[in-house]
Amino acid sequence: MADIIKIDNGTWRFEDGFVRFFLLEGSERAVMIDSGINCKEAASLAKELTDKPVMLLNTHGDGDHTSGTEGFEKIHIHQADYVGCEVNVRYPSVAPVYINDGEIIDLGDRPLKIIHIPGHTAGSVAILDVNRRILYAGDSVQKGHIYMFGAKRRPDTYEASLDKLIALEDEYDQIYASHDEYVLPKDHVRKVKEAWKKVIKGEVSYEMIELFGNRVKSYTTEDCGFFME
Ligand SMILES: [Zn+2]
Repeated sequence: MADIIKIDNGTWRFEDGFVRFFLLEGSERAVMIDSGINCKEAASLAKELTDKPVMLLNTHGDGDHTSGTEGFEKIHIHQADYVGCEVNVRYPSVAPVYINDGEIIDLGDRPLKIIHIPGHTAGSVAILDVNRRILYAGDSVQKGHIYMFGAKRRPDTYEASLDKLIALEDEYDQIYASHDEYVLPKDHVRKVKEAWKKVIKGEVSYEMIELFGNRVKSYTTEDCGFFME
């Protein structure tokens, strides 16, 4: 289950205790951005909020963003987070529709722009709600700890992806994140980048912690954290 909170006309956030996901409604259709870790019924909850057809669009394919996948016929996701990935193995009956960098998905008077930002995963995307000037950044920009350990991460591409979001900062005013604080000022991308650069250079101390059976380095800065190999 999830708590559902209306943000504004046609936008809701779902809080399932661990992760946050969203419902956005246009004049012709609606989109659910991710589907939580603990919310199999996400699609039916969406149908209680909107009479428009609802499509599922994922910021990335991690297990904590996909619990409601089976309630949908299709999942719109970047190919790099589907082929050989967890979401494909867990929900084989749900057909993928691959999304690409620069693609516009129009909900009817509400265009959404896909921005491919590999790093947290190979197929991570940010979704720009163009007219409302909100950036949905998934896990890639947040105040909490960003997972950067394991086979699906692409830490070598992460800084360039943050630069890509910084280059677009005239196009959004705020960022909605999937974990920790939900609304962040747009300059938070720059803060995450600076924190990341310090971590990569070895300028931030870490502690070893146990996380889902992995021993990982936990880096904490005032702006965000990272879990690394
Ligand atoms: Zn997550």
